[in-house]
Amino acid sequence: MKRILVTGGAGFVGSHLCDRLVRDGHEVVCLDNLFTGSKRNIEHLLRHPKFLFVERDIQEPFFGHFDRIYNLACPASPPHYQHDPVETMRTNVLGMITCLELAKQTGARVLQASTSEIYGDPEVHPQHEEYWGNVNPLSRRACYDEGKRCAETLCFDYHREYGVDARIVRIFNTYGPNMAKNDGRVVSNFILQALRGEPITIYGDGSFTRSFQYVDDLVDGMIMMMENESGFFGPVNLGNPGEFTIRELADMVISLTGSTSTIQHLPEVPHDPKQRKPDITLARTRLGWAPRVPLREGLKKTIEYFRRVI
Ligand code: NAD
Ligand code: UDP
Repeated sequence: MKRILVTGGAGFVGSHLCDRLVRDGHEVVCLDNLFTGSKRNIEHLLRHPKFLFVERDIQEPFFGHFDRIYNLACPASPPHYQHDPVETMRTNVLGMITCLELAKQTGARVLQASTSEIYGDPEVHPQHEEYWGNVNPLSRRACYDEGKRCAETLCFDYHREYGVDARIVRIFNTYGPNMAKNDGRVVSNFILQALRGEPITIYGDGSFTRSFQYVDDLVDGMIMMMENESGFFGPVNLGNPGEFTIRELADMVISLTGSTSTIQHLPEVPHDPKQRKPDITLARTRLGWAPRVPLREGLKKTIEYFRRVI
């Protein structure tokens, strides 16, 4: 049994991680300022004797003795992280420092939830961890992309300077139950639009690609990386290499929901990465991890969830 801090634990991914860690018998402290997360996601855990919710901003220094720190606190959808870009940058940088300082003082092990956005609009396809990326530091996405890049730098510098055990996973587009209805990401948007019979909004011509990973696969990978004892700090990609165009995703959602929705093309979003697909060779070889849930199966579970909460 370990004592574990999960920052951003009331969010989409964080709530699944808290669930899994409590189920595995650990003591979990979930720290979240509820900016994009919701107490509803963790409601069933609130009275659990091994679960504690702390409403707090990760930018403020925090103290406690933990064996593990999962750092997920950061808005993840483009509309949310662009809502207050300075706050997004502060959360990424100061939040990372809060976690690393805590680890430096107490010897906790840290896992940083980084992102495929590190690769920007990639010129290498699929993206492997050696690729340094193609990020425009001045774009509307930069508060998130550069914030996450800086957080990775901090992990390596705290490791080199102070010997902190800080590990990095680069998460590719992930979906599943507990995604916020208003977060504007493509999977939740399309499912909600299909269930409501509204037009499915494709930004651009629908030819851009993404690789979608079901949240249970991600949680498995994060825990395997955190508990790996081979001295491997990453960064390591966690994503599903199945690559789909946004048009293919729209058609699949329409068919799985049995919706009468039509497709509506809206203007392309500036600086939208054209393609994204993880090379997961490193995760396979170093962690023995690979995603198991195909897109159709994961979408079915996610559609079931949105039918219940809509
Ligand atoms: P989310 O927005 O649902 O969760 C983020 C959580 O962090 C929310 O509960 C929010 O309230 C909390 N938070 C934000 N700012 C905070 C602050 N200053 N202090 C304390 N809490 C704060 O997003 P998610 O999809 O669950 O993503 C979780 C993590 O995984 C994020 O760090 C994100 O960058 C990373 N990630 C997610 C994806 C994805 O596809 N879901 C892809 C790449 C990386
Ligand atoms: N997208 C879309 N319609 C929507 C929401 C998103 O066509 O209603 C597109 C978006 O332009 C991008 C892709 O879907 O090309 C994935 O967008 P998302 O915001 O989910 O994630 P990210 O861009 O961060 O990968």
